[in-house]
Amino acid sequence: MIRKIDAHTVREAVEEAYLHCKEESGGRNADYIPYLAGVPAHLFGIAACLPDGSVITAGDTEYAFGIESVSKVPTALLAMEQYSAGQLLHKIGADATGLPFNSIMAILLERDHPSTPLVNAGAIAACSMIRPTGDADAKWAAIRGFIGELAGSEVEVIDELYRSESATNFNNRSIAWLLRNYGRIYDDPELSLDLYTRQCSLGVTARQLAVAAATIAGSGVNPTTRRRVFKAELTPKITALMATVGFYEHTGDWLFTTGLPAKSGVGGGIMGVVPGVLGIASFAPPLDGAGNSVKAQKALARIAARLDLGVFHPTHCIPASAEAATV
Ligand code: GLU
Repeated sequence: MIRKIDAHTVREAVEEAYLHCKEESGGRNADYIPYLAGVPAHLFGIAACLPDGSVITAGDTEYAFGIESVSKVPTALLAMEQYSAGQLLHKIGADATGLPFNSIMAILLERDHPSTPLVNAGAIAACSMIRPTGDADAKWAAIRGFIGELAGSEVEVIDELYRSESATNFNNRSIAWLLRNYGRIYDDPELSLDLYTRQCSLGVTARQLAVAAATIAGSGVNPTTRRRVFKAELTPKITALMATVGFYEHTGDWLFTTGLPAKSGVGGGIMGVVPGVLGIASFAPPLDGAGNSVKAQKALARIAARLDLGVFHPTHCIPASAEAATV
């Protein structure tokens, strides 16, 4: 039977998952970016946003944490919006590398064979694609503005995080220049690297991430502002990218277990998209060995199971308002 979900069923699932996972103590904050090591490890929040714009929350959903790799999703979307999905596939690609998100080996192995905008190399390349080429301030305004439109409210850089990342991002610097070597970066490498570093340093709340996810789920229309943010045809494209590589080397395990397309970041945030149904996010800083938040994964997996959110199930959930879809 298809499960119909409404605000009441989602609230029950969110609250149950919050209480169940709250005392989970596994994992450790990321520490290769010094700022992240100091974020209070007890913070934990879950937020879901429904097609009518209602946002259901539990826990610390107003704390602005480092968006980190989750920012790769909006920038990939913006690149597709400015060019096309086909151009993104051509210039960057959509394949999982099977290697860590910051792998230099992946670039060496693939050479001119592209990978995906959801790992560091592809994300730096996506930043390089953003128009207007060569104008760092205007490109940054485009990226930050787009993320704010997706999330329904403005996002700001956490200065201390940006400084912390900029002072330690030598690996990413190597990636940017290696991309240059293979003709896979489309603007100045240093400018592109700095944009990538800035976007990773944006502070977002779990509530904002849930609204951004719901905008993706809603085919590009933000359910809280009712504004169109991107073309409807891009929702299946970005959701496919998230499903393919959203959880680093554990992506297959995650998708197999939950069926929920989602993207995680080393700041402890995870954003999940169920097209046509809802956007969901969770945040808790301690990570597992692959870089995914321990508590946020547990919470989202629990909610996905309870509400039948998995997109591969022939009878997965639908919004209670979608009568016609049940036949
Ligand atoms: N800024 C981080 C990096 O480039 C993002 C990593 C992540 O969240 O996966 O290493």
